[in-house]
Amino acid sequence: MLYDVVIIGGGPAGLTAGLYTARARLKSLLIEKGLTGGLVTTTEWVENYPGFEEGIMGVELAQKMEKQATRFGLEITQGTVMDISLNKKIIEIALDGDQHYEAKSIILATGAHPRLLKIQGEDEFRGRGVSYCATCDGAFYKGKKIAVVGGGDSAVQEAIFLTKFAEMVYVIHRRDQLRAEKILQERAFSNLKIKFIWNSLPEKISGDDGVNALHIRNLKSCENSVLDVQGVFIYIGYNPNTGFLRGLVDLDESNYIITDKNMAASTPGIYAAGDVRSKPLKQIATAVGDGATAAMAAVKYIEENY
Ligand SMILES: Cc1cc2nc3c(=O)[nH]c(=O)nc-3n(C[C@H](O)[C@H](O)[C@H](O)COP(=O)(O)OP(=O)(O)OC[C@H]3O[C@@H](n4cnc5c(N)ncnc54)[C@H](O)[C@@H]3O)c2cc1C
Repeated sequence: MLYDVVIIGGGPAGLTAGLYTARARLKSLLIEKGLTGGLVTTTEWVENYPGFEEGIMGVELAQKMEKQATRFGLEITQGTVMDISLNKKIIEIALDGDQHYEAKSIILATGAHPRLLKIQGEDEFRGRGVSYCATCDGAFYKGKKIAVVGGGDSAVQEAIFLTKFAEMVYVIHRRDQLRAEKILQERAFSNLKIKFIWNSLPEKISGDDGVNALHIRNLKSCENSVLDVQGVFIYIGYNPNTGFLRGLVDLDESNYIITDKNMAASTPGIYAAGDVRSKPLKQIATAVGDGATAAMAAVKYIEENY
């Protein structure tokens, strides 16, 4: 089956790309391995996406995006893309099972997933005190005490950001010094609302309706202690979903796809949009912008090459 455009990943970036390519009357297929909507479906409440002045539930926003894109003719199929190869100008897409599709152009919108701490309580309290996104959830912690886990740039930057809302931010780091840039370290050390807890590992998150404690262990003294916190922000890194690409396009040092300003990857006819792309801000608003840009670049590519 030859499509004009195949979009891989049904989060905000992929659904927006599909909306634009379908409206441009291209034969468009979106392949999603899980729930359409992507990471948005894992967040209860979205407050910073324009157009919803009171905020909107993540699942509802995802459903609206899907309905809007399919209304214009975007086809959606379930499946996990396992391999992509080139046959001259045609791009061949192999899914799990025996499904195969062919496309003149593809848009990679497979996102990234936060690395998990894998401790007791993390799953149970996700979205109810456990968060992986300070920009998204920080405002829910006005006047509260929170913990940030990690010691790299993201952890320290987000800890500083969270002091705008929280009464106290504890940064839990397993070493005795940070990996973050020096300038970020200086800002964090001079911030009276940030307290560093060194050489320590989180062991358990506990609470009732929401989080009320983080249990930690000091790696040097082996002592256990309990922090009275209402939120735990985990910043031990994100992994882009690019494992199946196997050299198809150029990736940065952290395996995110490198694109130009038109979202074009290093191989002609292949575009990337959203969190899977190497870029500074990973949010719904930036993902939909990327999706629109990638779609219109794909439209132009097909006009010029077919
Ligand atoms: C807990 C949490 C809360 C957040 N809250 C907010 C918020 O309030 N506001 C905000 O702006 N941002 C928020 N974000 C960030 C936002 O969700 C992301 O920036 C956005 O979803 C990125 O969209 P995307 O389409 O690039 O990727 P994703 O939403 O990650 O979608 C990628 C999709 O690709 C699919 N996929 C991956 N690999 C394959 C494959 N091989 N084959 C087929 N399908 C595949 C995945 O299943 C997924 O559905 C939050 C993130 C998290 C983790």
